[in-house]
Amino acid sequence: MTTTTALPSYEDAVSRYEPVIGLETHVELGTRTKMFCGCRTDFGAEPNTQVCPVCLGLPGALPVSNRAAIEATIRIGLALNCDIASWCRMARKNYFYPDMPKNFQTSQYDEPLCVEGYVDVEVDGKRYRVDIERVHLEEDTGKSLHVGGATGRIHGATESLVDYNRAGIPLVEIVTKPVPGLGALAPEVARAYVAELRDIVRSLGVSDVRMEQGSLRCDVNTSLNKPGAEWGTRTETKNVNSLRSVERAVRSEIIRQSSLLDQGIRIFQETRHFQETTGDTRSGRSKEEATDYRYFPEPDLVPIAPDPAWVAELKAALPEKPSVKRARLAEVWGISETDMQSVANAGAVELIEETIAAGASPAGARKWWMGELARRANEQSIELAAVGATPAQVAALQKLVDEGKLNDKLARAVLEGVVEGEGDPAAVMAARGLGVVSDTGALTAAVDEAIAANPDIAAKVRDGKVAAAGALVGAVMKTTRGQADAKTVRELILARLGA
Ligand SMILES: [Zn+2]
Repeated sequence: MTTTTALPSYEDAVSRYEPVIGLETHVELGTRTKMFCGCRTDFGAEPNTQVCPVCLGLPGALPVSNRAAIEATIRIGLALNCDIASWCRMARKNYFYPDMPKNFQTSQYDEPLCVEGYVDVEVDGKRYRVDIERVHLEEDTGKSLHVGGATGRIHGATESLVDYNRAGIPLVEIVTKPVPGLGALAPEVARAYVAELRDIVRSLGVSDVRMEQGSLRCDVNTSLNKPGAEWGTRTETKNVNSLRSVERAVRSEIIRQSSLLDQGIRIFQETRHFQETTGDTRSGRSKEEATDYRYFPEPDLVPIAPDPAWVAELKAALPEKPSVKRARLAEVWGISETDMQSVANAGAVELIEETIAAGASPAGARKWWMGELARRANEQSIELAAVGATPAQVAALQKLVDEGKLNDKLARAVLEGVVEGEGDPAAVMAARGLGVVSDTGALTAAVDEAIAANPDIAAKVRDGKVAAAGALVGAVMKTTRGQADAKTVRELILARLGA
């Protein structure tokens, strides 16, 4: 439907309508093998090299549940404050799609493994509770690749290829209850929820939760209603693949829906696709007629009945909550909660922690990760952890600075070499000849040269105007390309001029 009416501003939209949001998040577990077979799950392997009769859905193949995946799901459920089912079953969700070789997905229907949890998030210093309806276990599908078209979509493609390596990798779906009452903050709470969920799952070590690689995927539901009226019809924005996009997707849906409602046009229940380039959503598939998936309990798998004693053991062994850990570290590192939030948003908490463990001071560790390295990661649109320097290397770099062997400028050049794979800081320093020169023999010639070239300044220093020596130090730094130790140079100049 096209409309020529100008869109209302976001502020205008939320002043007249109340948004209700809901989030469905898929987490791909990092188990070594798939959900129902022994195939490997390595990311980026050659297409169709990690497959077998079970995950290809060949006749007669029988699935066996992966205990590690069930354990990981229970731990996620516990970390999200859920109740764990004492008995539940997997179910077949029947539909036909080329990337799903069995023609059904093994999932869970009315008997999810975990129910009734919550996540608390903080936005602008205020706490919001997002209730979790269910956490269930299912398997991932394969991946379709459309070749020949301009956009990588099926439209215009000359051939379509399917890679089944991903088919059967365990997937955990986390569904929130609808969250009303957020008003204008709905987009930010949605983002904060996904960020917190990501940190919680990461702290459990059960998934690398990388949105850009698809191991954390998010669908965002949004509806609007007039104050006091019933909730409106919701739309579902699929596969939003960054935290920033989560926020933008909710915001743009609020604006779009309010414009339609203003014109008396009803909202259709549909799936929509977030457009990274424009920041708005485009219509996908209509959901007006509910698809009948003909769910039924999976007859080839035994029910899941986790022993309560085992669940209690898993609960007792949960790691410290990310929010608690952040508060604790902020105090130890001597930084404000706002600064800690930036560290968390940059994905730098663990990196800084490990750098400190490797011997750096909190300030030194934070400086490199949140400065030079964060800038590089941003420029290349990659995760900070993938930037090419390890915590041990950053700690070694800071040590060289603390020992006076590198100054700030030289350290940045050394770090560049480290990131580019030239080795550890000491090796890069030697190979690039970047160390601070404090050897007086080597510096005397440069000092004499500077004095000879600046007789007026030298005279002033001789007359006792010691402050003038700064200009001579600067001249020496220039001829030594920043590598001279400034303190030694200053001492040499004063000694030479008898000041
Ligand atoms: Zn397999």
